[in-house]
Amino acid sequence: MKLISENQLVLDAPKEWQRRHFVNGQWRGAAKEAAYHRLMALDLDTVSADDVNAVVESDLLPITHCDFCGRRSYRAVVLTTQTGEEFCICPVCVGTARSLIGYSYVEGYGIL
Ligand SMILES: [Zn+2]
Repeated sequence: MKLISENQLVLDAPKEWQRRHFVNGQWRGAAKEAAYHRLMALDLDTVSADDVNAVVESDLLPITHCDFCGRRSYRAVVLTTQTGEEFCICPVCVGTARSLIGYSYVEGYGIL
């Protein structure tokens, strides 16, 4: 299980932009370098993922689609099955699951 958080995506954005567009010590064009400088001018502690994507004019930060409700979000929990299949769950569905289990009787555990 892992967490995808919007805040972490934003904080990692400069590193991700460099990984994609700075190769062998050079930017892949002046536009990529200019976008990097615009990105570095942001206060990454306060901007949103949408802000970052707008500044670099691309979908640098991915939106996750919930596998249960289809909602799009920059935040999700990713569950991996024993066979390696991954399911992304949005915060709303995580909250629903948590409230369901909170009032359920689970054999061996009682009411959780
Ligand atoms: Zn959902």
